[in-house]
Amino acid sequence: MSGIFDTPELRAFRSQVRNFLRDHLDDELVHLTRGGLHMERAAMARWQATLHRQGWAAPHWPKAVGGTGWNALQRYIFEEECAFADAPLGDVHGLFLAGPMLIAEGTEEQKARYLPRILAGEEFWCQGFSEPNSGSDLASLKTTARLEGDHWVINGQKTWLSSGHHADLMFCLVRTDPTVKPQQGLSIFILDMKDPGITLQPIWTMDEGHSVNAVFFDNVRVTQDKLIGRLNEGWTYAKELLARERVNNAQAPRTKRDILELERLAGKLLDESTGRPLLESAWVQRRLGALTMDFLGLESAVLDVIARQMQGIEPGAEASSLKIRGSELQQRVTETAMSLLGAAGVVLSPTYGEGLLAPEGRGWAERHFFRRVVTIYAGANEIQKSIIAKAILDM
Ligand SMILES: Cc1cc2nc3c(=O)[nH]c(=O)nc-3n(C[C@H](O)[C@H](O)[C@H](O)COP(=O)(O)OP(=O)(O)OC[C@H]3O[C@@H](n4cnc5c(N)ncnc54)[C@H](O)[C@@H]3O)c2cc1C
Repeated sequence: MSGIFDTPELRAFRSQVRNFLRDHLDDELVHLTRGGLHMERAAMARWQATLHRQGWAAPHWPKAVGGTGWNALQRYIFEEECAFADAPLGDVHGLFLAGPMLIAEGTEEQKARYLPRILAGEEFWCQGFSEPNSGSDLASLKTTARLEGDHWVINGQKTWLSSGHHADLMFCLVRTDPTVKPQQGLSIFILDMKDPGITLQPIWTMDEGHSVNAVFFDNVRVTQDKLIGRLNEGWTYAKELLARERVNNAQAPRTKRDILELERLAGKLLDESTGRPLLESAWVQRRLGALTMDFLGLESAVLDVIARQMQGIEPGAEASSLKIRGSELQQRVTETAMSLLGAAGVVLSPTYGEGLLAPEGRGWAERHFFRRVVTIYAGANEIQKSIIAKAILDM
């Protein structure tokens, strides 16, 4: 796979990125990213502002609206180097979801108002799609927006709002026409999290973290200029957005970093019966070998998508297969880490690892528990299999 990256230009580009990360990424950010903990907004905003000053805030956006103009291979190298250096991910909802949707569908006023603040890390976004009874069957959602004079009035409830408590803004999928087929009567609005009538409630997850929330809308009034794209076309935009989210959720560079980290962990931890590094044990070598093989398969599929993106072809249902393979692999990586760590692996480290039996195990338990979610969010893997069956296998 490395062949395509092995040109003088791309090698020079990789060095440039690596040097930048070495000079600008501070220990605190690395420590937080490595800890696998839900990162606070201030830390993410600080890193986003640093990238922005360099002009690297949103490499995947068109150059005209603040992107870097890099091709897809350069963007992949950038992601890889950020993953290897343990750089934070930033506001994924703004950079990867709201931003691209506004670039494609937003008015000029919306682009001018929102995009620069995403780039600078000044405003954070969250995604208000799922509801208590509408997750996989998203089109059945019940939150409504009713036009009253100049305003849309929103009532209902969303759940599983990732990073809602860090966010300034939400893109929210609501029903604007209850008289047509479920998919045809949906629209997407921009909500200010401080709008009167919005109440947020934390949901605590089993990794002992607060990253998700429930949110309630009680007669929330929004002006008509907060509609994204055309009225009742929200389902089309939502599907495009979810496809982007799925490619992103393959997380190949960060999984590669984790597999390398696993190898280092296995080299440090000792087998209690032989006193030798676990890395020398046959079972560890088998598991690491299988993970590496499967990673190479995933990476080659991701690079295939990248090659087509370079010809202007965006992924369709392939995004679903990347999401399935990427998410399952992420879970197997942390499961292997837990097996290597044994008793030390069961210790959560809310104080960033103090008291852990094995300090090199810091962060793995949180990642292991949180990664239960990767096969669920961005559309559960079972649903992705249905998408593949319909679109690729024509079933
Ligand atoms: C930690 C976390 C963060 C999230 N963040 C966000 C967010 O920021 N914004 C947001 O809008 N949503 C978010 N979600 C919601 C996520 O997208 C939904 O959980 C997901 O779509 C599944 O919906 P559900 O939970 O209602 O499960 P259900 O749809 O009830 O599914 C339950 C199970 O049944 C299976 N199933 C359902 N229908 C079918 C079918 N037709 N065929 C086969 N199997 C089926 C599913 O695969 C799953 O295993 C998040 C979820 C979690 C857990």
